[in-house]
Amino acid sequence: MDKANEGKDQLIIIEEKISKVNGEMAVKKYLRGKLLGKGGFAKCYEVTNLETKKIIAAKIIPKQTLTKNRARQKLISEIKIHKSLNHQHVVAFEHVFEDHENVYILLELCTNHTLNELIKRRKRLTELEVQCYVVQIVNALKYLHSHKVIHRDLKLGNLFLNEKMEIKLGDFGLATKLEFDGEKKHTICGTPNYIAPEILDGKTGHSYQVDIWSLGVIIYTLLIGKPPFETPDVKTTYKKIRNISYGFPENVPISDQARGLITRILNIDPQRRPTLDEIMSSSFLNTGGTIPKVLPLATLACPPSAS
Ligand code: ADP
Repeated sequence: MDKANEGKDQLIIIEEKISKVNGEMAVKKYLRGKLLGKGGFAKCYEVTNLETKKIIAAKIIPKQTLTKNRARQKLISEIKIHKSLNHQHVVAFEHVFEDHENVYILLELCTNHTLNELIKRRKRLTELEVQCYVVQIVNALKYLHSHKVIHRDLKLGNLFLNEKMEIKLGDFGLATKLEFDGEKKHTICGTPNYIAPEILDGKTGHSYQVDIWSLGVIIYTLLIGKPPFETPDVKTTYKKIRNISYGFPENVPISDQARGLITRILNIDPQRRPTLDEIMSSSFLNTGGTIPKVLPLATLACPPSAS
């Protein structure tokens, strides 16, 4: 990025320098727009490709934050996995390049934020909305798992909504690709409220079923308005997860179909959790064509009308 351009009211242009076979340099220019959000290391901006006028999201990671080998390897793995994916419900990976200061990851822009902002705004969602989102998430997971990828950080904040209100699963920072289907992973990772008990246990190793567990936590959170194992401190949350200690509040109505699916997913034994196909054909999702493909934009602020 051009340092001289970093003033407050000035346009900030990001330049991608591409060396051509004949030794000449080509330059692609992007106009940096508004800040979309901040992550652990990265800042994410809206950017416009000045040649095509296409507006995308740019995750900008300062190289200063990549001095440790571990951080570098993690970013390389995130890029390698995300780049290999192409699905309607996965944030599209457009391009990656670097300059002296930063690594730039260009992604499909998701203008309607994440399910995290949605639940903060709406408190909880109707069953129809949850059914609509869960079908899309299950489709994304079926795609990932069939490509031997486990996401391992499935949570509301990593489920984006694009301008058409389609779900886009993003952030592959903790994802892993298995060499073979029976392989077990041992790295402890995830986000406290959503982490599966076999990851906490650490002995047996974990696999695809950790994403199914997180999906169960997501379904509960969307319907009830708060995560099932939430407590003020992480240790107590982990204890609750290990003991599968959660309940359904009496003041929030929930159907038997939804409650049954959540209960079957939040099973201590990963092998006894339903598969993605079983979730798709469960009575919660297999309703004979009543679930809409996408929801109206107005549902960002209020529940869909009953009509
Ligand atoms: P993390 O550090 O959790 O990996 P990211 O760096 O991936 O977070 O993203 C930081 C923030 O940038 C997100 O919380 C979100 O607000 C925003 N963001 C990330 N990707 C996109 C995208 N494709 N479209 C719109 N906003 C995005």
